[in-house]
Amino acid sequence: MPLNSLIKFSMQRLYEARDEIEAQMLMDYLASSHIQANIQGSYLKGAAGELMANHFPSVWVMLNEDMPRAQELLAQFLQRPRQEAWVCEKCHSEVDAGFGICWNCGAAREI
Ligand SMILES: [Zn+2]
Repeated sequence: MPLNSLIKFSMQRLYEARDEIEAQMLMDYLASSHIQANIQGSYLKGAAGELMANHFPSVWVMLNEDMPRAQELLAQFLQRPRQEAWVCEKCHSEVDAGFGICWNCGAAREI
């Protein structure tokens, strides 16, 4: 079996996000706990090169063994207080209030 399909086979879908930004924030949140994830869907191309149907982006966890921890983190992610987003000084991306650094360029929040 090619390596590509092995990886695909072992990936598990964690969460369907409402947009790319939310999917990216969740992925960063997981990455800060050393869980590897990636985003599938929306405008991304499928493994075979076909364009995937127009559905919401979803976050997939790379390793089965990370799944229980990823689900805990997802619950925390969804429960975090909704505060006002801030705008990065450097690249002008809107960043969720729960994050101290910009998801786009990594700049620290200016207070
Ligand atoms: Zn930025």
